[in-house]
Amino acid sequence: MKKRNALITGASRGIGLAIANCLKKQGINILIPDRKELDLLSEDSINGYFSSLKIPIDILVNNAGISIVGSIKDLTEQDINKTMQVNLLAPLRIISKIAPGMISREYGRIINIGSIWSIITKPGRITYTLSKSGLVGLTRSIAVELAAYNILVNCVAPGYINTEMTKANNNKKEIAKIKNSIPMQRLGESYEVAELVSFLCSDKNTYITGQTIAIDGGYLCV
Ligand code: NDP
Repeated sequence: MKKRNALITGASRGIGLAIANCLKKQGINILIPDRKELDLLSEDSINGYFSSLKIPIDILVNNAGISIVGSIKDLTEQDINKTMQVNLLAPLRIISKIAPGMISREYGRIINIGSIWSIITKPGRITYTLSKSGLVGLTRSIAVELAAYNILVNCVAPGYINTEMTKANNNKKEIAKIKNSIPMQRLGESYEVAELVSFLCSDKNTYITGQTIAIDGGYLCV
């Protein structure tokens, strides 16, 4: 089978790192630029990275994301712009850089990492929900444009995963409460998200596109 190249953003830790390790184990060649090489807050950095990238990308995982918690009265312009840029506009720009090559090779797998907050929300998650819901729309619209070229585009929506982001946004007491509210009574682990991503961006996925798939221990069911 042809050796595939995968670009994963935000793979310095957490879910992105687990995805990178999982794809590597499948024999996929991985590109995991750090923030110095590809800073999603900077259009110049995005343009610079892709203008010097010579390797054809078969698999793209838009994983990097930020979560700034704050209610409507606390929101600053900067928080709104930063969150929209990293979580939504940068993934769109990256797809637009990579899609032409995928179209010409008639192969591609694109995964956008959304969130359960793409689907539901809670107080304090305005910008996060705004950006992550946008990713669901982005996934659908890119999926229908690229489907005829054998490019499958999906969104994976994790629930509460045991990463630095979850620990930064919730203290120990809150995490204990969260665990109680999840039917499986525990947080998810990054490798569990990685296994789903790995399937969706493998050659085994031949017909799933445009979907948002939650991986949340049953959280959205209750
Ligand atoms: P972490 O906070 O642990 O890691 C975030 C990653 O994104 C880091 O590698 C970070 O790089 C990178 N990143 C942030 N800002 C930028 C930027 N401006 N340019 C380039 N890279 C950047 O997050 P998680 O692993 O927890 O989350 C990964 C994805 O999963 C995110 O999109 C998140 O929204 C989503 N998610 C997470 C959930 C969870 O419970 N953890 C639940 C649902 C969704 P650096 O090391 O340079 O900071």
